[in-house]
Amino acid sequence: MTAIDHNQVRRGMDADSIRKDFQDHLNFTLAKDQYSATQLDHYQALAYTIRDRLIDRWLTTQQTHHQRKAKRVYYLSLEFLMGRVLHNNVLNLRIDDQVRRAVTELGFDYEALRDEEHDMGLGNGGLGRLAACFIDSMATLDIPAFGYGIRYNYGIFRQEIEKGRQVEQPDDWLKWGNVWETPRMSLQFKVQFGGRVELEKDAQGRLTPRWVDAHPVIGIPYDVPIVGYGGKTVNTLRLWTAHAHEDFDFEDFNKGDYINAVEHKVTAENLTKVLYPNDLHYLGKELRLRQQYLFVSCSLQDIIRRFKTDSQNWDDFPDLVAIQLNDTHPSLAVPELMRLLVDVEGLDWERAWDITVRTLGYTNHTLMPEALEKWSVELIEKLLPRHLQIIYEINQRFIKDVAAAFPGDMHRVGRMSIIEEGEHRMVRMAHLAIVGSHSTNGVAEIHTRLLKERVVPDFADMYPSRFNAKTNGITQRRWLLESNPPLAQLITETIGDSWITDLGSLTKLETHADDSGFRERFRDVKYQAKKSLSDYMKATWNWDVDPTWIFDVQIKRLHEYKRQLMNAIHIVMLYNRLRKNPDMDFHPQAFLFGAKAAPGYFMAKLIIKLINNIGDMINRDETVRHKLQVRFLPNYRVTLAEKLIPATDVSEQISTAGTEASGTGNMKFMLNGALTVGTLDGANVEMAEEVGSENMFIFGLNAQEAKDLGEHYNPYDYYQRNEEVREALDLIFSDHFSVLERGIFEPIRHSLLEGGDRYLLLADLPAYAEAQQRIQKLYRDREEWTRRAVLNTASSGKFSSDRTIAEYARDIWKVEPCRVD
Ligand SMILES: *Cc1c(COP(=O)(O)O)cnc(C)c1O
Repeated sequence: MTAIDHNQVRRGMDADSIRKDFQDHLNFTLAKDQYSATQLDHYQALAYTIRDRLIDRWLTTQQTHHQRKAKRVYYLSLEFLMGRVLHNNVLNLRIDDQVRRAVTELGFDYEALRDEEHDMGLGNGGLGRLAACFIDSMATLDIPAFGYGIRYNYGIFRQEIEKGRQVEQPDDWLKWGNVWETPRMSLQFKVQFGGRVELEKDAQGRLTPRWVDAHPVIGIPYDVPIVGYGGKTVNTLRLWTAHAHEDFDFEDFNKGDYINAVEHKVTAENLTKVLYPNDLHYLGKELRLRQQYLFVSCSLQDIIRRFKTDSQNWDDFPDLVAIQLNDTHPSLAVPELMRLLVDVEGLDWERAWDITVRTLGYTNHTLMPEALEKWSVELIEKLLPRHLQIIYEINQRFIKDVAAAFPGDMHRVGRMSIIEEGEHRMVRMAHLAIVGSHSTNGVAEIHTRLLKERVVPDFADMYPSRFNAKTNGITQRRWLLESNPPLAQLITETIGDSWITDLGSLTKLETHADDSGFRERFRDVKYQAKKSLSDYMKATWNWDVDPTWIFDVQIKRLHEYKRQLMNAIHIVMLYNRLRKNPDMDFHPQAFLFGAKAAPGYFMAKLIIKLINNIGDMINRDETVRHKLQVRFLPNYRVTLAEKLIPATDVSEQISTAGTEASGTGNMKFMLNGALTVGTLDGANVEMAEEVGSENMFIFGLNAQEAKDLGEHYNPYDYYQRNEEVREALDLIFSDHFSVLERGIFEPIRHSLLEGGDRYLLLADLPAYAEAQQRIQKLYRDREEWTRRAVLNTASSGKFSSDRTIAEYARDIWKVEPCRVD
């Protein structure tokens, strides 16, 4: 018998150690043997084995940050759209080969084990995925950081398609356990709701506010390790769950009212049960406000607790703590930090305010008015009476500053006030976040400009130096290294592997765009990815999609402003063209869609139905099905994105100019060598600057033109003017695609022709169709297409979230990397 090397158990990075520990976990952690273990057990045994390899590094990282009194970044986000974790950890630990060898020796298929993992779907779309890319980059850049969020029991719903319509199913992702999380039962924080504020004399005889008779709830953290590439820094994603406080039902128990007491317990624990599935759309739901406050208060209490282990001097706080608010969702951090500093820690207002403003930064994510959060004064007063007082105090002082800066301009005071006056008085959370922080950033250059010009011009006037642009990015570890191994390998063979942590080095590929041998390999990689996706679609849905076709992909949340409907109408234009002229010169094109609609968003759900009905007709039609296909892939999520993006030829980024703040999907496609058909919106503008607009298919109105046209737009004119557009619309509204459900698309007709076509689809459709013709023409020139695809990959370096995070660290957080040995 060989002796056990205790340095290797649970730590060894070689295949032997991994294999042995896998067996151990299967036997001792999961209590299974070779006869009883299921595929899920095998996944879990492997996940535990990988998790073990993070623990030492995690503890060492935390010790190092503590010993060096490093400034820490706290990224507060109601959403973290992580996707799967296992393989990401394996790659960042750089033990891919060893793990695969161990798994093979055990007689399993690594890909099949990976497939057992459920997506961690704690987010809606771009905003949540951004948070996930950011924490990967922060760990890779050795920035001491915590992600703070909520451990929803139900993440974003699972989408099923029934008779062409979206049906939502609960995402019970914790049902089989979550290997990656560790509960920290010793770290519990109390938060309260309701009650009232009384004035009470303190020890010095001063009248101080006291929040009394409130209902307590407990927040308990669950920690997930976040390992950076290279395995040095392991940061923490800390997710809160709500639990009942023992005092909460004390009275009921004493009264013998057991059932009522337990009911209260259930109410408290419901708080963190479900993620609100609305993307960029605000709903004034009380439970959502409770979630926001629980999360903000627990996070701030935890941050203050940790600060106190490093310093006793509050003036150090902004030098040791940087807190970033991902949208206004955590903007209660402004009054809550003030409450903790003033009411609990006893600081005076001015000092507390200085600390608060210097500590907080706010990221704005949208220009769309319906997404701007406004909570009713009435609701805040009911749930958070002390916070309402603090907000009033902040506002009074702020309004005084406004009046002093712009004397006599009373309209400006009304426009800028944190409180919106009217029958139902509202708290404008974006105003609160701007006033209460030292930095407000947009997520792309154009977005930041429009934010300053159109959304909060008064604030940009008053605080010009607070506003800054931080163009979003994506992590190449997930969106190339993990999701597209053949392309990752080709790039590494060609220019080395420095791109993994320095995406700018992809420019070295530029010269290879003119090398026909390289182009052939690049083209073959793309073909293999299309073949894999084609096989997946065959195995999963029994669809036949030929990988020699153009794969034209639009995957993102379903929103009217993202104009999936414009894509659908254009497909009907192609359908008409091909029916009239079946021998038309046309390279077969498959239009692939993936999108979840908010469950209460009627028009978005109807557009899903339309896409499916158009697909049902076209995919069966003998005259066109050999050249045109339309497929709606159910349940779009990170794992599906990872399959689709490597296989994409044409990336659809067609939002009305001036509506998409940045987009990040656009960057994932560019990195993977797709050509973009898009408007000059969001980060598309910067993509065009990087690769050259001649290497994209840019079309349509720009943001200024869209705004100007919108002021006197008559969609009916455009309907009359363009015969192809008119025929396509007439076909849809004549129930050609809805013979058995006549009239169901009437609301779409109404929205376009009578409702004003808010997103200017009819105005942009001819230019979009023309851009699609350019795509058809170029695709026939395989060499030129590939050359441009290579240039897109080569020029995508700017869009790494490593670059974005380095900018946040330098300009907003003022934090330095802290290397861990
Ligand atoms: C990247 C990503 C998004 C954001 O896509 P956009 O096209 O930028 O809106 C949404 N959902 C998932 C699953 C993603 O991976």
